[in-house]
Amino acid sequence: MSLPVIQLRPREDRRLRAGHLWVFSNEIDCQATPLTAFEPGDPVRVQSAHGRCLGVGYVNPQSLISVRLMSGDPHAVIGRELLADRLRRALAWRERIYGLPFYRLVFAEADGLPGLVCDRYGDVLVAQFTTAGMERLKDDVISALEQVVRPKSILVRNDAPSRALEGLSSYVEAALGEPPDEVTVVEGSCRFRVALGAGQKTGWFYDQRPNRARLLPYVARARVLDLFSYVGGFGIQAAAHGAHHTTLVDASERALSYARANAADNGVAAHIATIHGDAFDVLRDLRAAGLRFDVVISDPPALIKRRKDYDAGLAAYQRLNEAALAVLNEEGVLLSASCSHHLERETLSRVVAQAAIRLRRGLQFVDEGGQGPDHPVHPAIPETAYLKTVVARSLPAP
Ligand code: SAH
Repeated sequence: MSLPVIQLRPREDRRLRAGHLWVFSNEIDCQATPLTAFEPGDPVRVQSAHGRCLGVGYVNPQSLISVRLMSGDPHAVIGRELLADRLRRALAWRERIYGLPFYRLVFAEADGLPGLVCDRYGDVLVAQFTTAGMERLKDDVISALEQVVRPKSILVRNDAPSRALEGLSSYVEAALGEPPDEVTVVEGSCRFRVALGAGQKTGWFYDQRPNRARLLPYVARARVLDLFSYVGGFGIQAAAHGAHHTTLVDASERALSYARANAADNGVAAHIATIHGDAFDVLRDLRAAGLRFDVVISDPPALIKRRKDYDAGLAAYQRLNEAALAVLNEEGVLLSASCSHHLERETLSRVVAQAAIRLRRGLQFVDEGGQGPDHPVHPAIPETAYLKTVVARSLPAP
């Protein structure tokens, strides 16, 4: 059975031929193949203005990204077999890297599964469907996950705000078994309790794992400030690796109550304190009170969510990094992260460097990192390389 066709305008096939998977609405020849003929999630075949097949995928006439390709093979059938194949490949990579079953199992486009994210917590999976096309394949996805991973339960967290852009509703449901409210993640030598249904995103931020490890050489005997701590990923590992005292700051009291429980579980309750509040306000108060730290971590949520927020977001990164550097001791270490794909790595480094100049300090960059290998980067889709982290050492004025 051949799929309905979406035809591109002349020369609009270049990005797909370079390996990208998206077609934007203005690239489609709507005279030849009107988008109005399609329902969100319909499977389609994409062809160039010359009739050359570029692949098969699914369409959403309501979204700016009109088509996402699932396969370059014109005869591919988008269904359970293809999904299971992609899942097997995704699982093989994670099993090769990690000794324990705690990782992002599927990272959307980068794993050949646009619109699907799935995190693994032992025998519990948490899946997020972010596009109408993947949502329509939900039953096949769940059954392929069951077959390939054999989990006890699967929770679907379909409550990401981005679903609205695809015309999708917000809901959370158990798709298999009875997912627990809470699971324990093992990372390094620590254990973390996280909430699944009520936590942020899928419950845990696996993407920062290599950067949390990157921090550990600097924390022995240190006073640590963990800004945007969530349930303590950075700060509690710092405490467990010999930091004298760690202050965790987050705007969510619920996250901090988990952080306190996690500190107790890891035997470091006596070495941590939590401050509930806006990190920008807390930094101002700490600075005014003359408090200083040997290590500061800044891991905010994306401050530039959309391109049009770039200027305001960049200004927020500047304020944040300057305030973080201002409470750092001489010889202190700043780990500064950004998960906004709009902010380039060089720009984040420049933000930190300029903050040091404004504060009349010397600075060395000593390390840098990105998302872990369970968040692979698609070579043609720069948006998939979103997390950057720089590590800098503060010095006296040069
Ligand atoms: N560092 C964490 C992940 C941080 S996620 C880890 O390694 O797991 C971002 C966190 O920032 C969330 O917990 C959110 O509650 C918190 N947050 C968002 N805006 C904030 C603000 N203005 N001030 C303080 N915390 C904030």
